[in-house]
Amino acid sequence: MPEGFDLDSCTGLFGGTFDPIHNGHLNLADHLVSTGAIDQVLFVPASTPPHKQRRRVSPGQHRYAMIELALAPFPKYVVSDFELLRAGPSYTIITARHFAMKTEGNLRLVLGMDSLRQLHTWHRAQELCEHFEFVIFRRPGYDMPDLNMLASAFGNDVAMKLLGSIIDGPVSAVSSSDVRRRLACGADVSGMLSGVVENYIRQHQLYPGVPSGSGKAK
Ligand code: ATP
Repeated sequence: MPEGFDLDSCTGLFGGTFDPIHNGHLNLADHLVSTGAIDQVLFVPASTPPHKQRRRVSPGQHRYAMIELALAPFPKYVVSDFELLRAGPSYTIITARHFAMKTEGNLRLVLGMDSLRQLHTWHRAQELCEHFEFVIFRRPGYDMPDLNMLASAFGNDVAMKLLGSIIDGPVSAVSSSDVRRRLACGADVSGMLSGVVENYIRQHQLYPGVPSGSGKAK
């Protein structure tokens, strides 16, 4: 188990590519923990994200290292290398089953609205939706799917459950792709991600066009 992981706590399983981790991710985690909805947030970077196979994703060790740096000030956020150590595509159902066993089911899957809109394309999506609880955050640019759309994919009960899992948390327009694009053209990314992560990106020149040595630690 990852260091710092508390088996008795209600855990939010937060999967993603995290290329890089940004303040949108951290704001969600902060909302969950500060409102008491969840006791700890487990960040699980995907090794080969099934939905992002068309673009080059930064190596897992860099994405993991950036998450570690960003989470360092927050004892209730933990990172796991579970998916990075598994061969093949990262399927949420496998990760969720693994951590549900460890936490005796005290687990909720954390998603943004874009992920909800794609959920029907995920591996064993029906099973995932039936067996797990979700917390879903709104995201600018992604409308909430309507009941009919979800019901035609998952049936009425699951559709109602998913819509009922959408919460009125903080809304953030930050995305990893925007951070990468801005860094690549030399635009300012302050306020979008932790300074330590920005420094790491520059040091390792993760996104083409990013010069090293000009990041500020925050
Ligand atoms: P990219 O821009 O490369 O697609 P991303 O910003 O969406 O990346 P991911 O690591 O793919 O980041 O996202 C992991 C999870 O976090 C997904 O469920 C996604 O919906 C959610 N998420 C990411 N950013 C936000 C945000 N600003 N608001 C709400 N949810 C978000």
